[in-house]
Amino acid sequence: THTRCDADTGIYTSNVDYSPETASCVYEYLLGSVDFDDQQEVLRECSGGRSISLGRLKLDAQRLGTGLVHKCKLKPGDTVLLYLYSSIDFAVALLASQFAGLRVALANPDYLPTELKHVYRLTKPKKVFVQSRYMHRLSKAAIGGQSVIITDGDVAGFGGVLSIKGLMTNEAAAKQAKLHVPADLSETAYLPFSSGTTGLPKAVEISHSNVINMVEIFRHTPTLFPKHEDGSEMQFRALNFLPFFHAYALILMLHYPIRTRGHTSIMRPFQPEAYCRLAADLNVNFLTLVPPVLTLLTKHPDATPEAFRSVKQAICGAAPLDFETQHAFTQKTGVPVQQAFGMTETTVGALGLPGDEPSGSVGCLYPATKARIRDVQSGKHLGPGQRGELLIQGPQVCKGYYGNPTATRDTFTEDGYLRTGDIAIVNPRTGEFSIVDRLKELIKYKGFQVAPAELEGVLVSHPAIAAAAVVGVYDKQQGTELPLAFVELKAGHAKDAKVAKDIDSFVRAKVSHHKYLRGGIRFLDKIPVSASGKILRKEIRKLLSAEVQSK
Ligand code: AMP
Repeated sequence: THTRCDADTGIYTSNVDYSPETASCVYEYLLGSVDFDDQQEVLRECSGGRSISLGRLKLDAQRLGTGLVHKCKLKPGDTVLLYLYSSIDFAVALLASQFAGLRVALANPDYLPTELKHVYRLTKPKKVFVQSRYMHRLSKAAIGGQSVIITDGDVAGFGGVLSIKGLMTNEAAAKQAKLHVPADLSETAYLPFSSGTTGLPKAVEISHSNVINMVEIFRHTPTLFPKHEDGSEMQFRALNFLPFFHAYALILMLHYPIRTRGHTSIMRPFQPEAYCRLAADLNVNFLTLVPPVLTLLTKHPDATPEAFRSVKQAICGAAPLDFETQHAFTQKTGVPVQQAFGMTETTVGALGLPGDEPSGSVGCLYPATKARIRDVQSGKHLGPGQRGELLIQGPQVCKGYYGNPTATRDTFTEDGYLRTGDIAIVNPRTGEFSIVDRLKELIKYKGFQVAPAELEGVLVSHPAIAAAAVVGVYDKQQGTELPLAFVELKAGHAKDAKVAKDIDSFVRAKVSHHKYLRGGIRFLDKIPVSASGKILRKEIRKLLSAEVQSK
């Protein structure tokens, strides 16, 4: 086993040695040793066929980074917001901002104006990067003019917005430009969003040190990446359909290949036939999956051993996956699957080191990572074989929530462990962790976060609704949870299909598509609340399981 548990303290640690390389900041760590004329291709866009080499990526990052400093007058510590789909431009904008010492907030480009306003208010960015065809969403959120930088196309007719192209300085100046080095590695590099254990999405403070350590942890994780017969590391070759704004793709499919001279092909949107064809054509050796995609491929005729002949290993994370499906995927495709567990708050990963045999667990602790299992009622630390809340500590654990000391305080224990809000159990024999339940409110739709509090806020702004409670309902067919709403109507409104349909459309107009109430709408006479007015989620879940059982 790779896990050790100290009987006195209840602290689980990893047995794997960890001696990370370090650097002065994320930019230097990733590109410091790359030459401007390095021809090694690192990213490719499947549609359109655009690609970029490591040297060009560095040069473009510095051309834009210099423009951000001199033309936009941005200063180290200012924030920029990326509101972008996965693309080469995403990588250029991200690295340019890092070069200039800026904090990069990472928003879902599907966000509608109200959602965008929320993240805008939280992070107060000086500039927002957007693709020209999504400019109108920014305008609706009253973000315009010189605070917008478009990544493509012509700025004419856009009322003073800037463009990446217009901001890039000449090559000679960019090559001479000075990298901004943060005073301390604990300074914040990224601000992705997560609702944590409760409430609305919050900006998670990920430091330079968090990012560097996370990539180093992956590099020190034995068996995570395929090896040649002589033991040397194979080049990482991935086909990525996940969004770069989320921790999973940001670190594993963007930072990791840049640092290790690997390669990521970007496909968008996911399409199973193209995925299976491209996996073979592009000589992909590593599949980066999420449960609903793995579930779909398990049933898809094109997902064959032949299609995945160059693939050595798959990783699956971001949401729960049952062993039956994991096993069926390997049976069908011949590709072994390692589950991994992590959170935005752990930069991405905390668990995922495989045990000795496939088991359906999320694996052992990554190097340098510690855990505790805490009894939910008594707060006592539990040993192997007992279920409790999973607590995590390690060099990849975030600093907290930006501008939100209360949420930060509530998320960490007194001795500095991050509360995951997930219920786990450790196998006493193998040291592997299994995630068996969720304590926190969060719903995961296809790996995307859906915060019940946010949907409840939208629902109660509907004129017919007095109170609402949102929970997740698991759909085995699709391999994902679906958001489902219980609503209590105001007097005088009928509990009928027409009202339900109206509520559904109301929600769809206000939130991005992964938050739609795909699990349905149920009417209740009274939403159960505590004396202090808090929704009794346990009661709501009981109602739901009674419904599922009666089916
Ligand atoms: P995010 O911050 O979007 O990555 O969401 C993190 C949450 O997703 C965790 O706290 C878990 O509830 C869930 N999650 C991530 N990976 C897994 C996994 N392998 N098994 C079960 N739940 C997972």
